[in-house]
Amino acid sequence: MGIPNIYLFPQLSDNYGYFIKNPHATEGVLVDPSDYDMCLKILELNDSIASHILITHHHEDHVAAVDKIKSKFNSIIIGYSQDNQIPKPDQTVDEGQIFEIHGQKYEVIHTPGHTLQHINYFIKEHNILFSGDTLFNAGCGRMFEGDPKMFWESLLKIKSLPLDTKIYCGHEYTLSNIKFALSIDPDNQNLKKLADWANQQEDEHRPTIPTTLKDQTLCNPFLRCDSEYFYSYYDSKDPEEIFAKMRSAKDNF
Ligand SMILES: [Zn+2]
Repeated sequence: MGIPNIYLFPQLSDNYGYFIKNPHATEGVLVDPSDYDMCLKILELNDSIASHILITHHHEDHVAAVDKIKSKFNSIIIGYSQDNQIPKPDQTVDEGQIFEIHGQKYEVIHTPGHTLQHINYFIKEHNILFSGDTLFNAGCGRMFEGDPKMFWESLLKIKSLPLDTKIYCGHEYTLSNIKFALSIDPDNQNLKKLADWANQQEDEHRPTIPTTLKDQTLCNPFLRCDSEYFYSYYDSKDPEEIFAKMRSAKDNF
């Protein structure tokens, strides 16, 4: 199957939703719909309906519009089998499972940390990842339910994907993430470059999403907990301990 079109659209205050559609198709897949009006708008613009809904995790700002979308389009809701706080799925999926919609194959990656039942969806054939609130551009989600070991292992799963993977995450938090990243990694030239670009995007009212895994391995401090730089910065060679310190520093930044 060819590369799907991915339409990013803003929801609520700083969430992103995504509409995935094969070129020329009239139905597609909504990821984490929370803003009903915005979802309808993106569907109308594309003269399409939402045949499926993918849910990454149960937070309200990712699922608030699921029921309304389903009643309008009779969409098939897909979510993680262990997440009993999401709107009732028509089809549940599990870690490592591959399922197909409109000829596109999606792989399920369980990424606990932000919530215990958080999952990412990976279109392997085209290296496209929907990371929800696990990995952001230059940051990661808050650790509401998991522990540092769990969250770090989730990030390692993402880190093991191909470097040209395009990452579509759940929020536009990039500029504030970069501010924190620069505070602990001020001489990182790649990060400075990302900061310049992100500021320019902001000036032009453009999103800073998608990013690539390659850029994130160079710039995102949370993916670099196992780097020599942060080993020395935190005086530790334990990435889980470094992750814990970094996450709590960001929470209090
Ligand atoms: Zn969340």
